[in-house]
Amino acid sequence: MNGSSDVEAVAVDLHEVRTKYVPAAYSPHHAIVAREGLGATLTDSDGRTYLDFAGGVGVLNAGHRNPRVAAALHAQVDRLLHVGPVMIHEGYVTLAARLAELAAPKGDHQTLLVNSGAEAVENAVKLARHATGRGAVIAFEGAFHGRTLLAATLNGKSVPYKTQPGTMAPDVYHVPFPYPYRPPVGVAEEAVVDHTMDALRRLVATSVAPDAVAAVVVEPVQGEAGVIVPPPGFLATLKAFCRSIGALLIMDEIQTGFGRTGNLFAFQGESVAPDILVLGKSLAGGLPLAAVVASESLYRSIGPGGLGGTYAGNPVGCAAAHAVLDVFEEDGVLATAAANGERVRTLLGELAAETPAIGEVRGVGCMAAFELVEDRATKAPAAALAGRVLATAREHGLIVIRAGSLGNCVRVYPPVIVEGDDLERGLELLAIAVRQAVA
Ligand code: PLP
Repeated sequence: MNGSSDVEAVAVDLHEVRTKYVPAAYSPHHAIVAREGLGATLTDSDGRTYLDFAGGVGVLNAGHRNPRVAAALHAQVDRLLHVGPVMIHEGYVTLAARLAELAAPKGDHQTLLVNSGAEAVENAVKLARHATGRGAVIAFEGAFHGRTLLAATLNGKSVPYKTQPGTMAPDVYHVPFPYPYRPPVGVAEEAVVDHTMDALRRLVATSVAPDAVAAVVVEPVQGEAGVIVPPPGFLATLKAFCRSIGALLIMDEIQTGFGRTGNLFAFQGESVAPDILVLGKSLAGGLPLAAVVASESLYRSIGPGGLGGTYAGNPVGCAAAHAVLDVFEEDGVLATAAANGERVRTLLGELAAETPAIGEVRGVGCMAAFELVEDRATKAPAAALAGRVLATAREHGLIVIRAGSLGNCVRVYPPVIVEGDDLERGLELLAIAVRQAVA
């Protein structure tokens, strides 16, 4: 696991250079300088090797440098790199069709490609506003949608996302997300959906007129907030609410998409289709590409030139995305993803049974997390313990990441198609790390 001393000397320099030249506010989860990745394995600039169960926070669902993705990239690099806003290219057209068909097999959907998740969220809201002629947008407490002004405004967490002086984007409202483990004071765990729906009804009765609401934006499972899985039926109830006020339902599947939850898209597990689907992260296996999928009848509301961007839908990103979809269309891949997720949650459940500091294990498919508490009865968050688990796991050669509005959750996101041996080894390291961190 340890590299040679000259490799370490280079690494020390890189850490110093990083501190001097990269803003401290750009603070990824781990102070590791990565060099190489393959499958579930990552090697850093010190020559240390880790099992990567973070995967860029759900970007590397098909693993680092998936061979199909890498081959498609090599081929594309030798063919075409850019045409930008001057013209469209083959890969954009075929990927647009493929994503639209996968998201809505009726054949009436279209796909806009952009560069990042935040940009996709911005475009989804822009589309909802054009299509409805309304301005207001409702999002959820705990939500994460990105770091640009509108996306950050939609986030349901003020620090560190809304700390800049000046006003955030206007016409954005928040309501509580159904979080059964931490219901609002006085609300029973079983009543969290009713509480959310009541908050929505009160919001449109008191603060914003129902016919002013363009859209409700929701993550089917909240990722950054700590893998919060709403009770079954919530998305259907939310969609019915949207219909009742003539608003659109935007689902942000940037983190839940591409097999992370065991379905290609999380909404398929709940059989509730969004009006506007936002995709990113694992879409192109690590290349910067994101997408907004919606019906042609919605897209028709925006005039020529209203959508686009210099690098949006770059040919290399599109080639990668086609390869990612090829991986997921292979027989049995989604079943493997679901089985791997089941194994992760079984092991975490066993760990919780022997660890009073684990308050809850949550997840769907390979989107898993556990919440650390000082005391199971009070549920007081144990954020420092979460930090110790991450650091101890890293020392043992496993990368997992923090989550949670209270900073006390540990997320476990292996590649969804992780090999059995890597999965078992990673889970073993995690168990060792948890036992040492709580001792
Ligand atoms: N939406 C969700 C649910 C996310 O998890 C993220 C990133 O973590 C984003 C939006 C923002 O995506 P990006 O970082 O590509 O702008």
